[in-house]
Amino acid sequence: MTDRLVSVAVPVPALGLLTYRVPADQPMPVPGARVVVPLGPRKLTGVVVGHVSAADVTFKLKDILQVLDAEAFVPPDVVKLTQWVSDYYLAGPGATLATALPPHGLANRVDRFKTVRVVALTTAGMVRLKADSTAVDVASAFRRTLPALGPKQLQAMRLLADAPDGLTAPVLAEQGIAATSVSRLQALGYVAIRDERVDRDPFEHAVGAHKPDGAARARALTGEQEAAMAQLAPLAAARAFHVALVHGVTGSGKTEVYLRLADAVRQGGRGVLMLVPEIALTPQVAALFRARFGAAVAIQHSGLSDGERHDQWHRIRRGDVDVVIGTRSAVFAPLANPGLIIVDEEHDTSYKQDETPRYHGRDVAIMRGKFTDALVVIGSATPTLESYANGLAGRYSLVTLKRRVLDRPMAQVQVVNMREEIAAAGAEVVLSRALSEAIKVRLDEGQQSLILLNRRGFATSVLCRQCGASLECPNCSVTLTVHTQGLVHRSDPREGGRDWRARCHYCNFTKLVPKACEKCAAPYMERIGFGTERVEAEVRAAFPSARVARVDRDTVRRKGSLVEILEKVASRDVDVLIGTQMIAKGHDFPECTLVGVISADVGLGMADFRSAERTFQLLTQVAGRAGRGERPGQAIIQSLVPEHYSVRLACDQDYRAFYDKEVEFRRAMRYPPQVAMINVVVRDKTFEDAMATARDLADAMRGGKGFVVLGPAPAPLTRLRGEHRVQLFLKGTSRKAMREGLQLALSRLTKISKAIAVDVDPLSML
Ligand code: ADP
Ligand code: ZN
Repeated sequence: MTDRLVSVAVPVPALGLLTYRVPADQPMPVPGARVVVPLGPRKLTGVVVGHVSAADVTFKLKDILQVLDAEAFVPPDVVKLTQWVSDYYLAGPGATLATALPPHGLANRVDRFKTVRVVALTTAGMVRLKADSTAVDVASAFRRTLPALGPKQLQAMRLLADAPDGLTAPVLAEQGIAATSVSRLQALGYVAIRDERVDRDPFEHAVGAHKPDGAARARALTGEQEAAMAQLAPLAAARAFHVALVHGVTGSGKTEVYLRLADAVRQGGRGVLMLVPEIALTPQVAALFRARFGAAVAIQHSGLSDGERHDQWHRIRRGDVDVVIGTRSAVFAPLANPGLIIVDEEHDTSYKQDETPRYHGRDVAIMRGKFTDALVVIGSATPTLESYANGLAGRYSLVTLKRRVLDRPMAQVQVVNMREEIAAAGAEVVLSRALSEAIKVRLDEGQQSLILLNRRGFATSVLCRQCGASLECPNCSVTLTVHTQGLVHRSDPREGGRDWRARCHYCNFTKLVPKACEKCAAPYMERIGFGTERVEAEVRAAFPSARVARVDRDTVRRKGSLVEILEKVASRDVDVLIGTQMIAKGHDFPECTLVGVISADVGLGMADFRSAERTFQLLTQVAGRAGRGERPGQAIIQSLVPEHYSVRLACDQDYRAFYDKEVEFRRAMRYPPQVAMINVVVRDKTFEDAMATARDLADAMRGGKGFVVLGPAPAPLTRLRGEHRVQLFLKGTSRKAMREGLQLALSRLTKISKAIAVDVDPLSML
């Protein structure tokens, strides 16, 4: 016998679960159902997460107003998963549940207009006219018959009179007829609105022209793929929770293993969920799954329009699909009974959400597997230290693919010591002699090159040569980055009387670079350092006939532009592709035989204990882009510190040696995976206020068992978007003790502040 009490998550940040009573005349809602509840003066739609016993309640409760769903809207296992996320990451249950819902899932009035068909009722039939009527006849006939209508409504009726099957809302919208006009016609009884489920197909632009050729058919597996399947298939068939880490070098054919496994699980009647870091960057994966499994595949990612995401969510919820591919948030997809959850490129930092709830898609995937008795397969050529440590400890099965398919060789890697290049060619050198020569050879032979520099812009900063002042952001504690404005086609890219623009990469503050120093008025402003725009200019200057394209956040702002550029590369309309780490991810360009890295050292200067790991991953991944086709590949890595172990071991492509060295460093310094961390950042208008709050928090936690508190101290980015930031860390072996200690400290703060960001298992230390 229940007490007719429910706990409800409402979409209000920082609010916990709320308890309501269900009045006797309302049905008892199941977990996952949406309900309308009163909150102060407001009415909100929330989701029931569970039933509550009256014994736990000591205060007077309000009644829910309405039960919206007879069955669960959000599947119960997903409700449970969001509750886990909310507890583990110390995030509000409502904000967490919102990430699991389709767009407008909790909106009081769902915008149905996009999915309806409008049909004229008999009134409009009266004005059907003879075939030889002129436009004027038609218009006046309508005006006579339907005098009360405005011009847009009249126009709608005329269009509908000629369409006995009705017209869809988007078609009407194209003619300028909005939902409000249609609603009015419906109210007058002139038209009927019917639901229409023509699901928008996001594959059209998400995967573009990637038509996998023979890949639609399963092909013979290599020996290593065969062995991997022999390890994984029984785990999938066991219908019990298990995690396997597939550590396979770039080009070892991991995707084919995923496809086979997915097929087996589908045949066994269970669903498959596959997470990828970024759909636009891995179009081949989505296209391959579509080609192999047809329309039973749904796709979920943030690049879709609200309408598309809404359609896909409901297709999955209705059970129309059994394979879901998506980015981070797809881990919450309403797929019934997932039996296999794949996390491709598990090392990719885009799995971590950098706003509340700050969850890691891979870790949530593992929990979902635990709740649903599924096999979770995480894969990478460069696994995170955390995952590999779990593999070595036996918590995960370790599946290894050591060789590329068809015995294709790994790229040959050459390191260029840039200290020697600078000695020979001056401090301004961007392309070493070896790299220039290698690009030239590729151009002569009609092969492609890929050039990486993980830094956007033209120059890193501007410095006054007289007083040393640099151009800084007024809102953030960073120097401004110099950008050209699409003027890179001049014959000499390095000089000329163009305007330079400086921009903050955090808050987008922009200004023209002054001709003279703002501090000392000396006219000697010098650009320091270089980014991808400068590399593009250098390549164009050195190889004027080469077809060059650039991929970084500046060139792919427009939706679809990244896919366009990648398609040009795939169709060989690009000779040299320059870009940031975006180009290092999962692409398979068979014609690319050269990878150049302009500066391997970009990430090493960062104040972050993971900088060596990031450098190793990036260099290994980008070198893995070369020579994936028939012809062998070459990688040239430029570095000022070629002796650094992350650079050296990436060149040797020796993951295990890197792991052993790095894990030793983490152990000595007591960093993850040796210990767990929680990062707390307090923001405020003044530094003193932020510091005071952070101190209160830290003091309340000192003496806690199982962890230590470090700080508070100014965050590396001490000012950001006009606010001051102070951070503190919790480090320890018991995440539970750390979470509880922090929760208690937060609840004791006298001033409730929304400006406290809690990051459990942080990936960024900034
Ligand atoms: P990874 O994800 O491990 O880097 P991919 O899955 O992209 O590697 O595979 C690399 C290339 O090898 C792709 O072009 C793929 O089509 C091809 N490939 C995979 N398995 C086989 C196989 N069994 N026989 C022939 N080619 C294969
Ligand atoms: Zn700024």
